[in-house]
Amino acid sequence: MSASILMKRMALLVLSTLATSVLAAEPSLLLTHATVIDGTGTPAQANMTIAIEGERIAAIYPDGSRPAPKAARVEDLSGRYVIPGLIDAHVHLTGAEPDFAHYQPHLQALLRGGVTAIRDMAGDDRLIGYLAGEANSDALESPDIYYVALMAGPTFFVEDVRAQEASAGEPLGFAPWMQAITQTTDIPLAVAEAKGTGATALKLYANLPANLVTKITVEAHRQGLRVWTHATIFPATPSDAVDAGVDTISHSPYLVWEAAPKVPDDYGVRAMGDFAHIRPDAPQILALFKAMKQHGTILDATLLPFEQEAQHDSKSVGAGIMPWSYAVTRLAHQQGVLIDVGTDSSGLPTDPQGPDLHALPLVHTEMALLVEHCGFTPLEAIHAATQISAAAMGQSTQRGTISSGKRADLVVLTADPTRDIHNTEKIAYVIKNGRIYQKDGS
Ligand SMILES: [Zn+2]
Repeated sequence: MSASILMKRMALLVLSTLATSVLAAEPSLLLTHATVIDGTGTPAQANMTIAIEGERIAAIYPDGSRPAPKAARVEDLSGRYVIPGLIDAHVHLTGAEPDFAHYQPHLQALLRGGVTAIRDMAGDDRLIGYLAGEANSDALESPDIYYVALMAGPTFFVEDVRAQEASAGEPLGFAPWMQAITQTTDIPLAVAEAKGTGATALKLYANLPANLVTKITVEAHRQGLRVWTHATIFPATPSDAVDAGVDTISHSPYLVWEAAPKVPDDYGVRAMGDFAHIRPDAPQILALFKAMKQHGTILDATLLPFEQEAQHDSKSVGAGIMPWSYAVTRLAHQQGVLIDVGTDSSGLPTDPQGPDLHALPLVHTEMALLVEHCGFTPLEAIHAATQISAAAMGQSTQRGTISSGKRADLVVLTADPTRDIHNTEKIAYVIKNGRIYQKDGS
């Protein structure tokens, strides 16, 4: 064989190898004729194709504008609507279930109900860390899970039975995911220990003064952790947290303390604000919204848990809590504050027997509350539960919108959710990481 023939054969070999790798990179799943609501707040686009390659969205384009790849599985979505996977930005997974075996159907119900990621806002990180490892590698049929390590003042751990249960077996206030912080705590070490749990963020929960909120936040950001706090941390106020640079603040009703004459040192009164006398548009609250907008601080409104508490245990919350919370959330939205969708629950409706595995996830109800009480359009509520919730979770680059390069986490609907927000409940099937999950379990 002459040298030139050998060269030609080698060139052919290289070309055919290239061709194989190009083929392998072709989309594996094509969703055609879909109406796409991409999560950015852009109006729905009809007659679109979404090309999925492995776990990622490869491209979105008008139907027929590119040749259909031969190897791809094609799903004709004529008459169907596609939104990004929903993200519940405030879940407490552990504590809701009696034992590990129960998590599997629970997480499966969330995923098949349209939830492709959850932000767990405090619990037992030994269990959450394990579940997150299984969920995020698709070993478990589940939304992906991101979680926190909690910090609070020492009195919190004595008062709060949930914190005691979530750190059982560890000295109270010294578990890396449930740490008591004082003025003498070695903050860099405490943050490093929290980071060692695999958490995405710190949750600053209660009974911490403003100077500690600032110290912890600066150090957490230095070590690459996010900081998610209660809106009022007692005595630290919402503006103390926002000025410290925290990334998200939780619970609309706690905003009332921004305009209260005094904020107590203890979180026990957190839902007992003076909703009768403090206006949602008090100048202090409007100034807070301005600061939040400047900093990009996200409001994790969590209206549903308070609505349920006001209905079933009205003495545990201040009179007038719901009209006030709806009004303040509406105002925040009008002022341009970013608002996510979180349910502050196990993610599913729960009774004393445990979560209802046949019910739809509560994220749909929280979205409906934003539309029905807080002036959101359905499109804005979808934006809140997708792009904004992904941002709240620290996952902006990976999730939350239907755009090329992002994870293929999608919900296929049989009715238009921009006409009626309750249509997010009409799920044909869910796609997570490029895999289809049919409602009936197939
Ligand atoms: Zn919570």
